[in-house]
Amino acid sequence: MSATVSFQLIDNYEPENLNAALHNLLEPLGGYGGLITDDSSVVIKPNLLAPRPLSRAVCTHPEVVRQFARLARDGGATRVLVTDSPGIGTTQQVAAKLGLTTNDVLEVVSPEETEWVHSKEAGMWKLHLSVLMRRHPVVNIAKAKTHGQMIVSAAVKNMFGAVVGLEKAQWHYRIGREPLNFGKLLVHIYEMVRPKVNIIDGIVGMEGNGPGSGTPRALGFLAASTNAHALDYILCKIWKVNPMSVYTLRAAKEAGLLPDEKDIYVIGADVASLHPNPDWKMAVPASVGRLVGPNWMIPLWERLFKTVPKVNTTRCTMCFECIHHCAAGAMEAVGGQIQIDTQTCISCFCCQEMCPHGAITIDSGVLARWLRLGKD
Ligand code: SF4
Ligand code: SF4
Repeated sequence: MSATVSFQLIDNYEPENLNAALHNLLEPLGGYGGLITDDSSVVIKPNLLAPRPLSRAVCTHPEVVRQFARLARDGGATRVLVTDSPGIGTTQQVAAKLGLTTNDVLEVVSPEETEWVHSKEAGMWKLHLSVLMRRHPVVNIAKAKTHGQMIVSAAVKNMFGAVVGLEKAQWHYRIGREPLNFGKLLVHIYEMVRPKVNIIDGIVGMEGNGPGSGTPRALGFLAASTNAHALDYILCKIWKVNPMSVYTLRAAKEAGLLPDEKDIYVIGADVASLHPNPDWKMAVPASVGRLVGPNWMIPLWERLFKTVPKVNTTRCTMCFECIHHCAAGAMEAVGGQIQIDTQTCISCFCCQEMCPHGAITIDSGVLARWLRLGKD
């Protein structure tokens, strides 16, 4: 098994520059026409996590979506649909916040209608997935971000948006405590949708307290591959992160879906030269499971190194978004403050992801602090 990862170096979101960069990005992969042969409806799946200002770099930049839509229309697509299942708000609300609205080239639509993935196909999982994403060619356009629980939020993680609405929170609740299992689920969802091409918007990425409250950081590239696992793997190499510490990559490797490094061909960039200087700041790890070997040891280590969310009361505005997204019911407002029941908390870190004010950080626990885990 081999894969090609194509790069274009670009440091701005100017429409003309982006259009040319996207065109050149796809060329080594066969070009638009080689990747998407069905010329009817094409679905673009950006990261539309939450209605945050463009400057926060939480979502895929709208100009990347617009210019890909243009490329698709030039390539013969009769409809270009843009959809996601945001954590907060509707697709249209999040897109509008970014200045992305329906026009004569693209339509911003809701992914609401879903279908069961047949049990045989779904394996150990029982899933509802967006009909739009299952029935049309999908173009996955992710944002390059750090992630407290999953370490990296990139191409594979982005396809969690194929699960619609409350079912996302339910999955977090069911397996949120076991990040490797969550990684397996994400890999499975990606494989069930199998986008025609995966693109990472790394022109400006997010470092630090990602995926919702980190710091925007210029990275200066677009990257693409038909194999999202290979694409995420190369992103880890750029950030100097051990790929096997990333749960989706570990799951992909176990499932035989990740090509060996020697079989991943990088075109258009020297990976080492893309490492941000002086350094790139990862999120404080929400799970120590990645530090140890076998999956069965994770609960033991989790007990010893318990990691829980912590509310910064200075930043907190009592908007209650975290309480609404806590599937475990571990959060409540008491005496003008948000309190977390750490016994009920499943450490899914949805609250951290959804807090609009960056008021939730990760408390790494006594042993973790003693060992200085998660320190820069
Ligand atoms: S989402 Fe953030 S700002 Fe809102 S109540 Fe929770 S911690 Fe406070
Ligand atoms: S408090 Fe936060 S991390 Fe804990 S279960 Fe609720 S949403 Fe998940």
